[in-house]
Amino acid sequence: MVSSADLFTAALEVTPGGVNSPVRAFGPVGGKPRFIDRASGAYLHDVDGRSYVDLVCSWGPMILGHGHPAVVSAVSAALARGTSFGAATPGEVALATEIIARAPVEQVRLVNSGTEATMSALRLARGYTGRSLVVKFAGCYHGHVDALLVAAGSGVATLGLPDSPGVTGASAADTIVLPYNDADAVRALFAARGAEIACVITEACPANMGVVPPRPGFNELLRSLCTQAGALLIMDEVLTGFRVSASGWYGIDGVRGDLVTFGKVMGGGLPCAAFGGRAEIMQRLAPAGPVYQAGTLSGNPLATAAGLATLRACTPEVYAATGAFAGSLSKLVTTALDEAGVPHYLSAAGSLFTVFLGRTAPVASFTDAKDQSTAAYSAFFHAMLDAGVYLPPSAYEAWFVSSAHDEEALSRIADALPAAARAAAAVIAG
Ligand SMILES: *Cc1c(COP(=O)(O)O)cnc(C)c1O
Repeated sequence: MVSSADLFTAALEVTPGGVNSPVRAFGPVGGKPRFIDRASGAYLHDVDGRSYVDLVCSWGPMILGHGHPAVVSAVSAALARGTSFGAATPGEVALATEIIARAPVEQVRLVNSGTEATMSALRLARGYTGRSLVVKFAGCYHGHVDALLVAAGSGVATLGLPDSPGVTGASAADTIVLPYNDADAVRALFAARGAEIACVITEACPANMGVVPPRPGFNELLRSLCTQAGALLIMDEVLTGFRVSASGWYGIDGVRGDLVTFGKVMGGGLPCAAFGGRAEIMQRLAPAGPVYQAGTLSGNPLATAAGLATLRACTPEVYAATGAFAGSLSKLVTTALDEAGVPHYLSAAGSLFTVFLGRTAPVASFTDAKDQSTAAYSAFFHAMLDAGVYLPPSAYEAWFVSSAHDEEALSRIADALPAAARAAAAVIAG
């Protein structure tokens, strides 16, 4: 059997960095990535024959765990009918209807990735308003769209890249970056340039610089300033949508975006994402309107089958179970860190949370998030991995759980935690 180490060597020959998305590489935590052979329920199994409790869940989509029977049978049935037609299918209507029933949007357009969703929402906002300026927040990640790859979270934060080469001055020039949760900065910008702003894009609850919830009133402020200035508010719920509640962060704070982007959970582990909003805005999109947007595989029948089966299985019980598991898990983690004497700050939103090591002060912005001990996290990560728990290989990410995570998974994590906490403590002690 070929090992992860051999596969990584081969992968480095054929693809940059050996991975197809930067956050999968173990660069930030050191060591070599594990190659996954299969997964089931709460567990990943690598090609080396080891198993791990999965606390990444494909970075969000696998809210039901791996291989959920309803999803497997829906995708299998769709597969038997054909993989792609380049023509309209019933599944697209059903998935759009399900999204509209759950989230504050009147119409949606299906796309293939969260990046496409935010990119298209931005174009639509500019087309609708006839304005150019886009406002985003430092540490928020909206996919690898040129105009949004400025002071971004996720892999960009992890790799310490302030901006990306290849993004031209022209495409970044119309993007204004503000510090997150800074109400005064937003007010000042709107006072100075409100009439030029096409849209404000924000993660409804940021989770790509670690979980950093909006301060009470912050999303409401964005809503009212956008309305007054005639700008659109784009709520990016690619990560939080259908995960932190039946609708997403909207189900928690009730602030409505003019446009909302979705991905991850709504694709059930297949490439599928969406953006939606008020019908009056969405009607500007081709072929109903002049703003062009298209995709050969958009609304793919396998992807819509996986997404629809996943959303239909996301019952109130699933949200109760993931919330309860995340609560128990975060308690275990804080207890182990306390016992080992590791200063930490736990930041949570629904079933999502991040444990910032080496600091105890709250984290409200990207500047705060960077003030943590990533070296302590690396030591913690590797000790957990050695004991069969797969955490995000970066200190700037949320931990993800699923409804398949049970007592057995929790006890494996509990067994792993004390040694991992001691490893982090040793780094902090220097
Ligand atoms: C993951 C993510 C994206 C990008 O989605 P991809 O499917 O990776 O392109 C956009 N916005 C947020 C908030 C995300 O978490």
